[in-house]
Amino acid sequence: MSVVRIEHVYKDYLLGDQKVQALKDITLSFDPGAFLVIAGPSGSGKTTLLNLIGCIDVPTSGRICVNGVDVSGKTPDELADLRNRTIGFIFQSFNLLPVLSAAENIEYPLLRRKDVSSTERKRRIDYFLDIVGLSRFARHRPNQLSGGQRQRVAIARALAIHPSIVLADEPTANLDHATGEEILFLMRQINRTFKTTFVFSTHDARIIARADRLVRVEDGRIDAPGVPFQ
Ligand code: ADP
Ligand code: MG
Repeated sequence: MSVVRIEHVYKDYLLGDQKVQALKDITLSFDPGAFLVIAGPSGSGKTTLLNLIGCIDVPTSGRICVNGVDVSGKTPDELADLRNRTIGFIFQSFNLLPVLSAAENIEYPLLRRKDVSSTERKRRIDYFLDIVGLSRFARHRPNQLSGGQRQRVAIARALAIHPSIVLADEPTANLDHATGEEILFLMRQINRTFKTTFVFSTHDARIIARADRLVRVEDGRIDAPGVPFQ
């Protein structure tokens, strides 16, 4: 079964009284364990597409199924619950909470999960801090960490909910070349080890080259509908 299925999705934004068609007739699906890249120039609709997959926003028309569940018609509370259980997010600007330590940032999404006990929370924090190589930095605040370390915290935070899918919106855009490579390598390892599905948006050629599958977006449309990369 596809982890995500998108059928004839359109997304319009209203800008004053002007309609911006950000996505036009997108149809796309992918399987568990994918390492999929959505590539396209700035303004092509990458973030909009990730936000729809991540149930942060809803399509103007069309259908999106996540783990076989049709998300259209769900209430904001139901969508939030689905997100908290299913989807990990990694952002270009890391989006860590500055007043919280690395460990607390990783813990934060788990606090909304009544099914995860405090013992289990602590176990996952330690486990994923170790996976991203930051065990010694558990008590550091984001401003005491480098860009690469912050993105590692964000990766651990995304993984700690045991997501079916991790969405990464231009995750290396704010990192230098070498750090971007390290982060990419780490995500690839996690994808292979845990079979976590990753969907990236990027225009970084290095990420594009590592994709199992490449989807090109241009002016809100899919250009090459997910042909296998090799
Ligand atoms: P990308 O991530 O590829 O740069 P986006 O998905 O952010 O592209 O944007 C796609 C199009 O939708 C652009 O034309 C952008 O200006 C427009 N857009 C994005 N978000 C909004 C919004 N909240 N309101 C109005 N227009 C938006
Ligand atoms: Mg974007």
